[in-house]
Amino acid sequence: MKNGIAASKGYAIGNVMIKSNEEVCVVERTVENTQEEKERLVKAVDASREQLQKIKDKAEKEMGAEKAAVFESHMMLLEDPEFVGGVEFNIDNNKVNAEKALQDVIDMYMSIFASMEDEYMRERAADVKDVGSRILANLSGKACGSFENLDNNTIVVAHDLTPSDTAQLDKNKVVAFLTNIGGRTSHSAIMARTLEIPAVVGLNDITETVKDGDKIIVDGVEGIVIINPDGATISQYTEKKQKFEAEKEELKKLINVETRTKAGKHVEVCGNIGKPEDVHGVIANGGEGIGLFRTEFLYMDRDTFPTEEEQFEAYKYATEKMEGKPVVIRTLDIGGDKKLPYLPLAEEMNPFLGYRAIRLCLDRTDIFKTQLRALLRASAFGNLKIMFPMISSLQEFLKAKEILSACMDELKAEGKEFNPNLETGIMVEIPAAAVMADELAKYVDFFSIGTNDLIQYTLAADRMNEKISYLYNPMHPAVLRLIKMTIEAAHKEGKWCGMCGEMAGDERAVPTLVEYGLDEFSMSASSILGAKKIIMNS
Ligand code: PEP
Ligand code: MG
Repeated sequence: MKNGIAASKGYAIGNVMIKSNEEVCVVERTVENTQEEKERLVKAVDASREQLQKIKDKAEKEMGAEKAAVFESHMMLLEDPEFVGGVEFNIDNNKVNAEKALQDVIDMYMSIFASMEDEYMRERAADVKDVGSRILANLSGKACGSFENLDNNTIVVAHDLTPSDTAQLDKNKVVAFLTNIGGRTSHSAIMARTLEIPAVVGLNDITETVKDGDKIIVDGVEGIVIINPDGATISQYTEKKQKFEAEKEELKKLINVETRTKAGKHVEVCGNIGKPEDVHGVIANGGEGIGLFRTEFLYMDRDTFPTEEEQFEAYKYATEKMEGKPVVIRTLDIGGDKKLPYLPLAEEMNPFLGYRAIRLCLDRTDIFKTQLRALLRASAFGNLKIMFPMISSLQEFLKAKEILSACMDELKAEGKEFNPNLETGIMVEIPAAAVMADELAKYVDFFSIGTNDLIQYTLAADRMNEKISYLYNPMHPAVLRLIKMTIEAAHKEGKWCGMCGEMAGDERAVPTLVEYGLDEFSMSASSILGAKKIIMNS
């Protein structure tokens, strides 16, 4: 058995097909007849165009125009006169074969893209590599990709899969895929979820552990791979798979259904996201908005702070895609267990009670203002709301609003657009905020209860320590009392109250939360439909 990262839910039982990531080896040759090389190049480019058109058509049918757009950009590169022209120039000027001339242009493009500040542009380096490998394969006469004539129940095992690999997978034949590298938000993982093919990624050496034809079970729910399972395990997983699929099918009926409780109250079931692209999963699962955008993920996995422009693009993207539905964006919640390599912070005895989230932002107004300006500018593009984390007193909220107001003045003076009436709210995740909710409710536009932290602070039980996990109980009467108080305090002032901690999607808790009158439930996209069902029965 091997453990990896569960990238796409579902179960599959099938046989391994290892996809070798054999790259075409480019050998430099000096050529006399440059015209002949240029003709070979044109032929390979034409073949690549034809292949890409087919992949794009298939992707469009199966995954929608948006996901297929990546192949449009691959095709555009083929039409880019500087790209193909650059290769032709190399052939003529250096008197080298088409392969070598092409490899040099690919390397140059990749290094330009890779050094760009904009993350989106940096990712384009992978596209150049993908297109370049295709042309090189066509130049060498090798078939590009080996996904033809697959047997039924194939499980593709690869070091990594490119977007075009993933899009070529025939859903009727390929029942799952596994990769050595990648995380939940890697391109292939996103594609797997869109195609709804179970996938486990980040398995390190799965290509070395299994061989062609091995029978394996893929558990995309837990991120587990079982190699050469016995009969009993196969029956157990066959049953799990049938149950999973039947439940999923049944839940789909709820996608476009407005969520109403038995008493007839409309509540919003929304999604939590960490990256702007995650909105698609929320929309596909019938999410009625974004209840929590954890912006700290935009700050992670990089060497410098994201610029105002980068952040603006990310917030605008999510807001626009939600087409007027609410998008609650939380300001930076860094510190505690979330650290940034480029923001050195002193070691603390109790980091969860320390210099973090709004406390850090109110101190480092330079960091805070960059984010607030980006958020305000994005608010011109939809129903964006700003939420402050870790608020423990009214003073903190008022101070945050003061800085927000200064940012509004700056943007006004610069002639930049924003929504001056955007809603601002707070996370209620510190018991003090819940206790003082009646006071706070007079000033905020909304509350969102952050139970992940509220539970740990109320019960003094570290949310990460499995030794005391028995104490970490969402249904503890003290926690429930604080939640009830918060919701009632909001309603008394005519404000709405949501919840974006895990408890919002916890089936044991949902009926109680409905009873308390919670207005909005926000959770990970894949829990939305299950929660909708329970709410509608509560
Ligand atoms: C929470 O504390 O409930 C919450 C939603 O925030 P996070 O899990 O990011 O701390
Ligand atoms: Mg929290």
